[in-house]
Amino acid sequence: MSDSRTTIPIQPAPAGTEADAEVGLYEIRKKIYPRAVSGRFATWAWTMVFLTQVIFYGLPWLAWNDRQAVLFDIAARKFYIFGIVFWPQDVIYLALLLIIAALSLFLFTAMAGRLWCGYACPQTVYTQIFLWVERKIEGDRNARIILDRQPMSAAKLGKKVAKHGAWMAISLWTGVTFVGYFTPFRPLLAAFPGDLGGWEIFWITFYGFTTYGNAGYMREQVCKYMCPYARFQSVMFDKDTLVITYDSARGEPRGPRSRKADYRAAGLGDCVDCSVCVQVCPTGIDIRQGLQYECIGCAACIDGCNQVMDRMGYPHGLIRYTTENALAAGSDSRTMWRRVFRTRTLLYMGLLAVIIAAVGVSLYLREALKVDVIRDRAALARETVPGVIENVYRLQIMNTGETPRQITIGVDGVPGMEVAGVEQPIAIAGASTLVVPVRVQAPAEAGKPGANRIEFVIGTAGDAKLVRREKSTFLFPR
Ligand code: SF4
Ligand code: SF4
Repeated sequence: MSDSRTTIPIQPAPAGTEADAEVGLYEIRKKIYPRAVSGRFATWAWTMVFLTQVIFYGLPWLAWNDRQAVLFDIAARKFYIFGIVFWPQDVIYLALLLIIAALSLFLFTAMAGRLWCGYACPQTVYTQIFLWVERKIEGDRNARIILDRQPMSAAKLGKKVAKHGAWMAISLWTGVTFVGYFTPFRPLLAAFPGDLGGWEIFWITFYGFTTYGNAGYMREQVCKYMCPYARFQSVMFDKDTLVITYDSARGEPRGPRSRKADYRAAGLGDCVDCSVCVQVCPTGIDIRQGLQYECIGCAACIDGCNQVMDRMGYPHGLIRYTTENALAAGSDSRTMWRRVFRTRTLLYMGLLAVIIAAVGVSLYLREALKVDVIRDRAALARETVPGVIENVYRLQIMNTGETPRQITIGVDGVPGMEVAGVEQPIAIAGASTLVVPVRVQAPAEAGKPGANRIEFVIGTAGDAKLVRREKSTFLFPR
């Protein structure tokens, strides 16, 4: 395979000097034409494509409690995820989600390198989908190379229009689906395209255009130049991390040979130097040169090389998932896997399990009612009728569930104390907040002058167990 990169010297260098070494300011991209490949890892990759896309495109269609199952309603500051409604006060769950995501990334990277990049990253997944469309319309690698070299003709134009049309349709639908997570999806479709609002149009266009550009044109450049993860992945690798590796001890010296020839006698290794591993690589690198940051861990080269090994009658695994230690020591796969599950990865697993369990328990025990009591600072304590002291409060009651409720408000702490001026029970809709001004009255002699500790008791008609008690103070004049 010829070098897929072209470098531009930043300044002309006099011949015969040290400056002859070419200094690249940036690289001009040479288009990569990845060849189709099949095999165990390609099947995994397509499984992940289907799984992620069924979830992504399917979720906005799902209904739950007469509303969209998953909806991030930013305007109302509520996130609906199946039976749970998250409020701005639940930001802790977002923090925990980020911690879980980061720990998972650490775990999978420490175990098996860039698993996320190779199988689940949207950039990889959409590039795979766009490449599939490209192959269906323009053909596999060689056909596409020939097509691109041909002068424009009606046939070529037809293929290009069909390809870009299909890409645009996928991108547009991706953009609409993305916005459907933030705006109710079915009304969004009903409004499409003429009655869409400005924000919807902007985000559909933006996300659709990003999908089209990244998966259709940018492809491996996003991974090589834009994604920060590619840059710091190496710090998460160690000698027991599974990485896709060319077994140079087995493969070298490489060289072509006849299938029937005794290549060992000819001093050759198992690599037939067919360049299939390079042709299938979506980033255009040669894995035989060792681990490179451009490698997204897609394992296409493993499948490609295994196909060649099958044709040659050699065992699989010239390119394979292995660890630096296993390769150096020639360990069997049992020993290698034992070291993959080492202290570090077990620690990540333990931490992840604890955090996920804590989130689960916390969600299970989540309060269906939340109450905040705010004292009216303008009127601390007043005597409304002779012998009766009144304090004023504002109760902010949040019904975190989706069941409408009938709320009762009581108060404890001072003999004879009662809530006045509120018609009870009070109706509160599901997933909503209610602010209730409350006057609390108590006999003048019932408490000590100054602050007295009291408790608001917010009950729920029809659910004796759902009671919230919220502390506050009641002031008697000194
Ligand atoms: S070297 Fe192999 S695993 Fe890495 S990106 Fe290329 S094909 Fe995928
Ligand atoms: S596919 Fe396998 S045999 Fe062919 S060049 Fe690559 S490593 Fe060598």
